[in-house]
Amino acid sequence: IRRNPGEAEFHQAVREVLESLGPVLGKRPEYADAEIIRRLCEPERQIIFRVPWVDDAGRVQLNRGFRVEFNSALGPYKGGIRFHPSVYLGIVKFLGFEQIFKNALTGMPIGGGKGGSDFDPKGRSDAEVMRFCQSFMTELYRHIGEHTDVPAGDIGVGGREIGYLFGQYKRITNRYESGVLTGKGITWGGSQVRTESTGYGTVFFVKEALAARGMDLEGRRVVVSGSGNVAIYATEKAQALGAKVVATSDSSGYVVDEAGIDLDLLKEIKNGHRGRVSDYAARRDSAHFVAGGSIWDVPCDIALPCATQNELDADAAAALVRNGCLIVAEGANMPTTPEATRVLREGGVVFAPGKAVNAGGVATSALEMQQNASRDSWSFEHTEQRLSEIMSSIHARCLETADEYGAPGDYVAGANIAGFTHVADAMLALGVI
Ligand code: NDP
Repeated sequence: IRRNPGEAEFHQAVREVLESLGPVLGKRPEYADAEIIRRLCEPERQIIFRVPWVDDAGRVQLNRGFRVEFNSALGPYKGGIRFHPSVYLGIVKFLGFEQIFKNALTGMPIGGGKGGSDFDPKGRSDAEVMRFCQSFMTELYRHIGEHTDVPAGDIGVGGREIGYLFGQYKRITNRYESGVLTGKGITWGGSQVRTESTGYGTVFFVKEALAARGMDLEGRRVVVSGSGNVAIYATEKAQALGAKVVATSDSSGYVVDEAGIDLDLLKEIKNGHRGRVSDYAARRDSAHFVAGGSIWDVPCDIALPCATQNELDADAAAALVRNGCLIVAEGANMPTTPEATRVLREGGVVFAPGKAVNAGGVATSALEMQQNASRDSWSFEHTEQRLSEIMSSIHARCLETADEYGAPGDYVAGANIAGFTHVADAMLALGVI
């Protein structure tokens, strides 16, 4: 904490991992001898830069850009870019730190990194977003590359932003280096299923967790928070597997729709016009909008927090326990506070952490990198099948590792330990670098 002052989210993410590692350090003293934990907590490189741009009124605007290249023991740094006014170094470092273990858990050759800016895309025109992205890339380009660091999207960065970023990278470098960014459009080097992958992967993980308990998704009530990329495709796959998604949200409040979320309408409102969930309620008789409030008050069997960090607190967790929720699976990164996690586990709710649950996004990014490297493009069915197999193997690895380290059924211990040992072993092999 003294070394990284004021970075509350980073401290929270580190503490959460360290709390799982006691049994590992007991069994593997060589990790302590090599100072693996202290080295893991120190990013290999942190870049902070000025992002000046001109708005539609001709005024100069200024934002701050970040890229934290955390760990490259397993492969090039890999992790998204977030554009949101709350972004500062502590957020980027928490996300980058988590990314190391998540990426390791996928079993694919990718290191961990994350980036972003305090730029707020809300209310900005396409032309403003483009000028911002061009300015951001004008600095970032010198730090990234298909063998170095491969960014992707995150909150506020979707297909549109990746397009503007890639366009500027291509222009500055005079290289059509498809593998430098993932989340690209299908016609210019993107992969089928990348857009859907984090949400679909989240539901594939839940399916495995239910199956391990002799259950399935058919007829289950599901609440999904957020209405962005992850939330929309988690809703789509949950519905396709027979569940009923009854609530959705954004930062202004939540909507309950007892008839089940009409996904075509939600996509039209969100993707087409970048609208609000209140617009959804206004256009659908079976739905009502609650301004502010907690979406977790809506009774459900399965809760999928898919919006942002620390969105599910201890009160929300208590409501979920009271209402008989079976499983909470994190589609977002660190959406559940440590107190809430405790309440859920003490209340007998199965808790599955984001590192494992939402790893389908980065795994499919790695599949995009494979296709770019071989100048190939796979079908939707084939790519979705690969994603489904990856999620099933992540689920199995979490359970096996939890068993091995004396915490049967504990997905948090399983994910943290499996991710950690994979990276730590590579760091040992590479020496003190
Ligand atoms: P989007 O920008 O597409 O959507 C974010 C959604 O969350 C929006 O509905 C937004 O509402 C809502 N939201 C954001 N901040 C808040 C807040 N403070 N309170 C309430 N709601 C909020 O982002 P993604 O769907 O891509 O990302 C969602 C989460 O999933 C993040 O934690 C991200 O790190 C994680 N993730 C994303 C991956 C990906 O592939 N995209 C991969 C792995 C994890 P509003 O529009 O009102 O801001």
